[in-house]
Amino acid sequence: MYTIIGKTLAVAVLSMLASLLISFAFVPLMGGKVAGAGLVMTIVCPIVISIPASLAHFYLGGKLRSANTALAAAKDELADAYARLQHQARRDALTGLLNRATFMAELEALSQTGTYGGLLFLDVDHFKSVNDRFGHATGDEALGLVGALLSDLARDGDIVGRLGGEEFAIFLHAASPDRMLEHSQMVREAVKAIDLFSPSSQRIPLAISIGAFHCAPRFNPAEALAASDRNLYRAKSAGRNMVVA
Ligand code: GH3
Ligand code: MG
Ligand code: MG
Repeated sequence: MYTIIGKTLAVAVLSMLASLLISFAFVPLMGGKVAGAGLVMTIVCPIVISIPASLAHFYLGGKLRSANTALAAAKDELADAYARLQHQARRDALTGLLNRATFMAELEALSQTGTYGGLLFLDVDHFKSVNDRFGHATGDEALGLVGALLSDLARDGDIVGRLGGEEFAIFLHAASPDRMLEHSQMVREAVKAIDLFSPSSQRIPLAISIGAFHCAPRFNPAEALAASDRNLYRAKSAGRNMVVA
């Protein structure tokens, strides 16, 4: 408020000085004389006109600046919220891995680049009994640990998703059949080594079955996933905790 009054007074003084300067420069040229009532009006008029005009100008200008700042802050918040929403829409909330729709979309995009690689379909063994014996919260913790493990073991360019429940999928980008098998066995062994504890501190052993399928360039994602799922079924039927390719 004080700055507005200060600026308004400064404008009033400058207007008055400008008015005096103009009057003293031009009135004599026109044969007149700046004195008496004329001099008073030369001083008073600019002051009376400039004070309300300046007050309105500086006050509204200040309001406009605060509105602009608030608008810029709101725009930043909106952009952050949009980025967060986009991230959430692509990810599974429990594990942070890609959700099924996004995994399939990325797999489709990769197949169209002409790449080849290993597609793994993974399913935690006897997971229902983890829930039944130790509770759903412990089951959730197990899924979180498995998800973190899968994403830690992945390389740049690989994609890892949670397809739903205790089922996961990995595409090993540009992996040879040998690397696909090595990675599958490494994952299987790492899941066995996960330290999961019950609320009463009992260690809960986890195991995973993996169906693997090697995808040639221009593979069909849905068919490749179905093929890896068939291999997963074989791994389950053959006793679980194993890789079938
Ligand atoms: P299998 O070795 O044949 O795969 O047996 P399984 O018990 O793992 O398979 P089943 O399909 O019978 O059970 C899967 C269980 O996964 C049942 C369901 O309650 C549980 N599940 C699915 N989603 C979640 C989840 O988000 N959190 C928890 N805690 N459990 C889940
Ligand atoms: Mg399952
Ligand atoms: Mg299972």
